[in-house]
Amino acid sequence: MEFFQPSSLREALELRAAHPDAVPIAGGTDLMVELNFGRRRPATILDISRLSELQQIGREGDRVVLGPGVPYARIIRELPDQLALVQAARTVGSPQIRNRGTVGGNLGTASPAGDALPALAVYDAEVVLASTSGSRRLSWREFLVGPKRNALAPDELIVSVEWTAPRGPGSFSKVGTRNAMVIAIAGMGLQLDESSRSLRLAMGSVGPTILRAPEAEAFGAGVLDEAGAWSNPGAAVPATALARFGELAAAAARPIDDVRGTAAYRRHACAVLARRALAWALDDRRLRAA
Ligand SMILES: Cc1cc2nc3c(=O)[nH]c(=O)nc-3n(C[C@H](O)[C@H](O)[C@H](O)COP(=O)(O)OP(=O)(O)OC[C@H]3O[C@@H](n4cnc5c(N)ncnc54)[C@H](O)[C@@H]3O)c2cc1C
Repeated sequence: MEFFQPSSLREALELRAAHPDAVPIAGGTDLMVELNFGRRRPATILDISRLSELQQIGREGDRVVLGPGVPYARIIRELPDQLALVQAARTVGSPQIRNRGTVGGNLGTASPAGDALPALAVYDAEVVLASTSGSRRLSWREFLVGPKRNALAPDELIVSVEWTAPRGPGSFSKVGTRNAMVIAIAGMGLQLDESSRSLRLAMGSVGPTILRAPEAEAFGAGVLDEAGAWSNPGAAVPATALARFGELAAAAARPIDDVRGTAAYRRHACAVLARRALAWALDDRRLRAA
């Protein structure tokens, strides 16, 4: 096996152009599992784990620019206001995995169970890709094209993930067979956006890729409108509306039966997670306003 260890992004992109079959490795927490189980045996590996250009966290006004090589442990420490992503990062694996694993790797693997991905979807994040011939910017939706499939070309690397920091509460929650070190049976990201008086809901592990729930989103925003809750966080939102929000989330899921759970259980989990996530967001707003 050939192994390249570039010391700059430019060198990495040149190597990528010259060896399009080379598989990039960042934290290695997905790739090494594949190698160890003999599921993959790439002829060439491109180690991008030492590239400082991919390990920056930047804020440009209200834009967040996250290097794909930033490990989850740093996201938890350094982006505390991006709560949906922080909560997702906290649920990834164990401390060891969070020290190595990266959002770039989560995007690269493009599993529907990738925990960072629903958070990126509720931020409407963009994925920036670069090659020696330039760069392009894709929405998370354009990038994640199917189960374990993404839009990365053989000569490209993910060079940043960017979004506008939302104003309002957000969360990530998941259901698994135990409380930690678990692949999600269902994962839920929710983000309220006070500026546009809208909310965004994204689900993982309940479809071929990450799914948003547009009907639930419109219904949820409308419920806050009717209750006057956008301008008055103390306004009561009826429990029946929260339950309906959950039902609409479940209706947007496209789950399958697999070894981790049945489709019916996953739908039920979506309803419960979405209802709880909205209730938490409303509580959060009430507490902040009190
Ligand atoms: C014990 C264990 C527990 C885990 N628990 C969780 C969990 O709870 N939740 C979860 O979501 N995941 C979990 N994972 C999976 C894994 O940790 C995550 O998917 C992590 O985000 C992968 O990041 P990485 O940097 O280690 O990726 P790598 O293994 O280095 O790479 C993964 C893929 O992404 C590609 N890639 C990486 N960076 C780039 C880039 N900049 N440009 C282009 N391609 C790139 C690689 O070529 C490869 O195909 C777990 C893994 C293990 C071993």
